[in-house]
Amino acid sequence: MAYIQFLGAAGTVTGSKHLINTSADSSGKNGFQVLIDCGLFQGEKEWRERNWQDPPVPAQEIDALVLTHAHLDHSGWIPRLVKGGFRGPIYATQATIDLCSILLPDSGHLQEEDAAFYNKTRTSKHSPALPLYTGAEAEACLQYFRATEFEQSKQLSPEISFRFVRAAHILGSSMAEISLKTNGTVRQLLFTGDVGRVRNSTVAPGKVVHSGPTEGESADLMVMESTYGNRPHPTDDPRPPMAALIRQTVQRGGSVIVPAFAVERTQKLVFMLKQMMRAGQLPEIPVYCDSPMAIKAMEIFLKHTEEYSDDTRQLITECGSPLEWKGFTFASTPEESKKINETRYPSIIISSSGMATGGRILHHLAQRLPDPKNLVLFIGFQAPGTRGYIIKSGAREVKIFGQMVPIRAQVAAFEQFSDHADTPELLQWLHTFKNKPAATYLVHGEPAAATSLREAMTKDLGWNVQVAQWLEKVEVQ
Ligand SMILES: [Zn+2]
Repeated sequence: MAYIQFLGAAGTVTGSKHLINTSADSSGKNGFQVLIDCGLFQGEKEWRERNWQDPPVPAQEIDALVLTHAHLDHSGWIPRLVKGGFRGPIYATQATIDLCSILLPDSGHLQEEDAAFYNKTRTSKHSPALPLYTGAEAEACLQYFRATEFEQSKQLSPEISFRFVRAAHILGSSMAEISLKTNGTVRQLLFTGDVGRVRNSTVAPGKVVHSGPTEGESADLMVMESTYGNRPHPTDDPRPPMAALIRQTVQRGGSVIVPAFAVERTQKLVFMLKQMMRAGQLPEIPVYCDSPMAIKAMEIFLKHTEEYSDDTRQLITECGSPLEWKGFTFASTPEESKKINETRYPSIIISSSGMATGGRILHHLAQRLPDPKNLVLFIGFQAPGTRGYIIKSGAREVKIFGQMVPIRAQVAAFEQFSDHADTPELLQWLHTFKNKPAATYLVHGEPAAATSLREAMTKDLGWNVQVAQWLEKVEVQ
């Protein structure tokens, strides 16, 4: 009997890994084995430690990997899988591959830096501490990626084929429709990966890629994300209050500091700021994107014109490449970054990491947090325990580079920028389905979020919905 086993993102939002085994016998040995996503566990230590455990199936016995999108909680364990002996093809869209080619080596470098830090400070119980994988190892796994077009069926073995459809979550993001022959019948499985926002640019403003996941899907069995199962997004337009906050900051001679992930979130904000300046909502003050990945990420984005939303296409047609926009500066070298840090005129500085856990944003925060003229603007989720969370929750000081830095700057946060559909949006999308799946398994959510979404789906749609458990095997009947 064919089965699916949840190897990650069950009981948590990270570490997405779902194994399909086409096995006809109960030993599970002779089946063709496909992994859907291969993400890194992030966040609490209890979960991160699972990154060091071998999967229940030896890596060399996995035949192929289908990757829904480039976020590290879906792709960041690939170098470790390859290190463990996986040599199969990794199917992904070209945009996902392009993003992985910057994100995975960067993740490897961060793993190396962390290991070096533990060794220097002797804070690890492992001596010497080793990186999960290195930048070079991450680079080496890129050779296994195979570019796959949307909506083209790909046969993986006599029993199994798949097709990507749009998920509208980030650049290149997809859902994987799987056709699986088992017991003489063909079953349709749908793995949603992360599901993007609805087609409404006021509810989800600044959307730079395709809006709305593919409608009219059908499935016998579905594995769906549940990140925002219990946290609905605000439905008001953040642009007017954000413009007011930025104008007030400029009037008092301060600068705006935005911690933001270099991929997707930074592009979203850059396009939105340009639109607000063109509409006269914002003064034309300098905007700095200070991240070593900001230029590369923007170049990848510009290359994939097929992914643009209508607003993005129009803005680029009228204003040209954002890399050439007057007043917008993309800094890649440390010297360029230092210059931004020394700027005394009002400006908007967008830098990573998005939760202020590391990276160049720390220099900007250390410099600007003590001055009440400045504004720190959060446009992304801040996980508990991160510096971003501490600053956002109203603390009076925060530790940066070993020093306590007083927080006197104004702090504001907008929750409208999420790239995940919330429960009302998911239900709206699920209502477009052509059939009722016999079973839906919820993954990629904290237990409370998954449970809440399960209740909403059962009540609203009458579907059979289960919350997936870590290492649980479910048969495909
Ligand atoms: Zn994602």
